[in-house]
Amino acid sequence: MSITKNLNHLYRNISNDIVVVAVSKTKPNEDILEAYNSGHKSFGENKVQELIEKHNALPKDIEWHFIGHLQRNKVKNIIKFIHLIHSVDSYKLLNEINKRAKNENRVVDCLIQVKIATEENKYGFNFEEIDDVINFSKNLKHINVKGFMGMSTLTNDNNIINNEFSKLQNIFKNYKSKTLNILSMGMSNDYNLAIENGSNMIRLGSIIFGKRN
Ligand SMILES: *Cc1c(COP(=O)(O)O)cnc(C)c1O
Repeated sequence: MSITKNLNHLYRNISNDIVVVAVSKTKPNEDILEAYNSGHKSFGENKVQELIEKHNALPKDIEWHFIGHLQRNKVKNIIKFIHLIHSVDSYKLLNEINKRAKNENRVVDCLIQVKIATEENKYGFNFEEIDDVINFSKNLKHINVKGFMGMSTLTNDNNIINNEFSKLQNIFKNYKSKTLNILSMGMSNDYNLAIENGSNMIRLGSIIFGKRN
């Protein structure tokens, strides 16, 4: 199937209040342009260098989402144009984004990444830390915390995934407001479960662009 067909198929099957971030990491610019020309505007990348190259080469009205672990020393390279950073996982990163955003005279939208998977090496804050992180962020004038992002455990066991998504949905419900209103959960293999658990932003790569090598 073509990228356009994949997107059309997807849009027929999900409600139109759900934002689809097309995860284009490792995929060439032609693939992104095909999606763009079919009307899609939101793309996600997880490597700073790759994101910058794509941003430079592609239409300027693309909304770029950063979804990978972000190193502090690279924040300055994307701060001018980034649309939403999904992967804020430390206080130091919050401070750095705030500082660089201030230099650019902008307020940057961010999501707090929450560690919902049991796997050892997943980034993100623990549930117990969220309250402090939210309060801390309120003092950062150049950061707008728009919500939360979570990644489930890589497993075929839907009960485990469901349980993890449901915990993050509960956190989201506690903090949800007019301005904090994004719940980014769900990838190609688990987006239906994520939507059942209140996700309103899904990050889809392989189901749109095909498998990555
Ligand atoms: C790669 C990636 C995705 C998309 O993964 P697919 O399984 O191809 O849909 C979503 N979110 C993050 C954080 C990723 O790194």
